[in-house]
Amino acid sequence: EKDSLYSLIILGASGDLAKKKIYPTLWSLYRDNLLPSNTIFVGYARSKLSIADLRKLFEPNCKIIEGQEAQFDAFIKQNVYIAGSYDKEEDFKKLHDELDERESKVKAGHRVFYLSLPPFVFDTATQHIRENCWGTRGWNRVVLEKPFGHDLESSRKLSSHLKKLFSEEEIYRIDHYLGKELVQNLLTLRFANRIFSPAWNNHHVASVLISFKEPIGTQGRGGYFDEYGIIRDIIQNHLMQIFCLAAMEKPVSLDAEDIRDEKVRVLRRIAPATIENSVLGQYLGNPNGKNEDEKTGYLEDPTVPKGSVTPTFAALVLKIDNERWEGVPWILRAGKALNERKAEIRVQFKNPDGDIMPGNATKRDELVIRFQPNEAIYLKMMTKTPNSHFGMEETELDLTYSKRYEGVVLAEAYQLLFLEILRGRQIHFVRNDELEQTWRIFTPLLHQIENEKIKPIDYEFGSRGPREADKLLAENNFVYTGTYKWPGPGK
Ligand code: NAP
Ligand code: NAP
Repeated sequence: EKDSLYSLIILGASGDLAKKKIYPTLWSLYRDNLLPSNTIFVGYARSKLSIADLRKLFEPNCKIIEGQEAQFDAFIKQNVYIAGSYDKEEDFKKLHDELDERESKVKAGHRVFYLSLPPFVFDTATQHIRENCWGTRGWNRVVLEKPFGHDLESSRKLSSHLKKLFSEEEIYRIDHYLGKELVQNLLTLRFANRIFSPAWNNHHVASVLISFKEPIGTQGRGGYFDEYGIIRDIIQNHLMQIFCLAAMEKPVSLDAEDIRDEKVRVLRRIAPATIENSVLGQYLGNPNGKNEDEKTGYLEDPTVPKGSVTPTFAALVLKIDNERWEGVPWILRAGKALNERKAEIRVQFKNPDGDIMPGNATKRDELVIRFQPNEAIYLKMMTKTPNSHFGMEETELDLTYSKRYEGVVLAEAYQLLFLEILRGRQIHFVRNDELEQTWRIFTPLLHQIENEKIKPIDYEFGSRGPREADKLLAENNFVYTGTYKWPGPGK
């Protein structure tokens, strides 16, 4: 729409997320001509910054290749910065007047308010946005980043506060995992392929593992992490979103509300996670580590409170009490300071009934979807060893993105999500009742860990996590044989 103005307002523009993610994403969208031609970027924060100061903050994170300098200057020209606090009416009015003035020159004005702020200023900032800064000449949308509360009660409080100010259609809660290509592909894989639907249930699936691993620790900044822990940081949000897309029933359509209805429905059939069905871990330094981060144990990070019991690793089992999934363990596992970086889902299928193959050699089929890094989908399966009589071996049907989509650069999560916000599509954003359900599932466990100061199990930096987690997997029908051999791509 040429005769409309789009204002992307970043509150907390001086902050870490703004400089690391938001501005670089806006630049990349601008560079690739993906934004409406009449878009301005309005930074707002208390720091008194000139556009040149602001530019200095985020430019190092923007990938500007040779020849793009003029375009980057043009991007900078679309920037506006207003200094103001998060609790003063007159400051928000100043922002409003600035936007009004610009919008008065065109037919319509649309506003995106992106709250890149610490959670304790959410309440006043949102109140002022609604009361003193709400556009009247087009739509308004409010974008929120986690944390959405820290337990069921605080999340409910935030939801009811937001409900008083905005309609749910105006709220975009970001879970950036929903912006990942292969997470979004779960819908297509499940519902555009006949072959998976009949097998996607407890008749055929033995167990499912959803995991997140990262090979870094707190890097000396564990103070922030310590207030949350791995369950709040990764499992309650990112892994549960993947869980929902994998476990939900087929939605009646691809409308955001239909999809989100199904996510809520499957969540409602899950009992709260329990300590008995969990393994919690906390990492120790590795004396042979390559750098300070690897040598430093979680409790040795000076920003982490002494004696903290916050888990940096958790594996836990959820059971879905419905017709499709009764009896199938869903294992969610996440950890810092592990041996590798990866996020994936593994669906293990039961062995064939009435097996006639010789030697008890049949292994489970396993569908693996690796969300990051090196996006891939592969189905581990049995095949006849070439030239043998009935010899068998494990092999795979392999869809490695870098090979199959050679030369295709996958969009980054934040790029996709920004475009969805501008288009008004909420499929990949979290609705308040999803949030309520995920907090219901994890709050009792989180409170128990905190109240009883349950001590996590030590594991060494760079390991696969506590051994007890493998035991939990084995007890929950997840089978690891160690017999599968991957020859590498293209072999
Ligand atoms: P931040 O840098 O700590 O804060 C953003 C801005 O808020 C600051 O530049 C500061 O701007 C203002 N601010 C900071 N402390 C304040 C205080 N005590 N009172 C009032 N204003 C204050 O935060 P961030 O890391 O960018 O994160 C922003 C939001 O994104 C948070 O909700 C965070 O949880 C979420 N998030 C961040 C990341 C990340 O990678 N950083 C990842 C996921 C989610 P002025 O002083 O100039 O006003
Ligand atoms: P696998 O070797 O059968 O291992 C399955 C998983 O079991 C591992 O990923 C590991 O994950 C876990 N594990 C390792 N040791 C274990 C133990 N002692 N007890 C319990 N679990 C254990 O099969 P895979 O990992 O699917 O494939 C092997 C390699 O080939 C991987 O590096 C994979 O990336 C690669 N591959 C790549 C592609 C592709 O890029 N297209 C396709 C096929 C295979 P955790 O450490 O997370 O528990």
